[in-house]
Amino acid sequence: MFDYQAPENLLQNKNILVTGAGEGIGRAAALSYASHGATVILLGRTEEKLDAVYDQIEAEGYPQPATITLNLETANETDFDNLAATLEQEFGQLDGILHNASIIGLRTPLESYDPTVWKKVMQVNVNSAFMLTQALLSLTETSKDASVIFTSSSVGRVGKAFWGAYAVSKFATEGMMQVLADELEHNPDIRINCINPGATRTNMRASAYPAENPMDNPAPEEIMPLYLYLMGHDSRAINGKSLNAQ
Ligand code: NDP
Repeated sequence: MFDYQAPENLLQNKNILVTGAGEGIGRAAALSYASHGATVILLGRTEEKLDAVYDQIEAEGYPQPATITLNLETANETDFDNLAATLEQEFGQLDGILHNASIIGLRTPLESYDPTVWKKVMQVNVNSAFMLTQALLSLTETSKDASVIFTSSSVGRVGKAFWGAYAVSKFATEGMMQVLADELEHNPDIRINCINPGATRTNMRASAYPAENPMDNPAPEEIMPLYLYLMGHDSRAINGKSLNAQ
């Protein structure tokens, strides 16, 4: 596991957007960021799940969060621009984005991969992260210590049979992170990196490996040290890197 002990107030006064915050790793990251003082903006497609995370954050007495219900499969440039305008109006500044939402698509050979599913996976995993980043970049550049984190996977570093669009989308994510990090290299106040969570006990993992005992993998809460490290000021000097949470 990545070794980092976050100070309790690591993310105090920070506004952090987490996509796919309704369950799994995104939910754990949102709760963890809030517990370290951040105001989290919970983005996801299922309102009830976001509301449950919202209620939990409130019940714990962490800073009051916000929720944004948005389907990243169908959202267009206008939706992202509207989202940016709302965040600017409500928060004035954005200190972090965790691009976490993804779908897995099919586990089939490329030869028989359904093109409709291919496009859907690329839309959710890559295109929406691009459009969201583009819309929000100027808002993050108002922060003196901003961090943008993309979520990768081991199949986004070495191609693996039958992982189809998901693997290709994660290669694209690593590429997008590197291009953006290089473009912003001159700005010490913003950093762009990737996290590869590694096998983690979530619904996505269970759907990809139905025969596996879920208890063999760590819970999302256990992989949070890297998520905290990259979001907080201790990682100021890290830019353009892809790090393993485990
Ligand atoms: P889950 O499937 O458990 O959670 C994914 C989240 O993304 C859900 O909250 C889901 O919302 C949201 N989401 C999916 N599609 C959309 C959409 N169209 N619009 C908005 N939100 C959407 O996944 P994990 O927590 O396991 O994965 C989190 C990240 O980690 C992903 O990027 C994944 O690729 C990566 N990863 C995970 C690994 C693992 O072992 N778990 C290993 C390697 C990488 P809803 O709940 O409404 O469906």
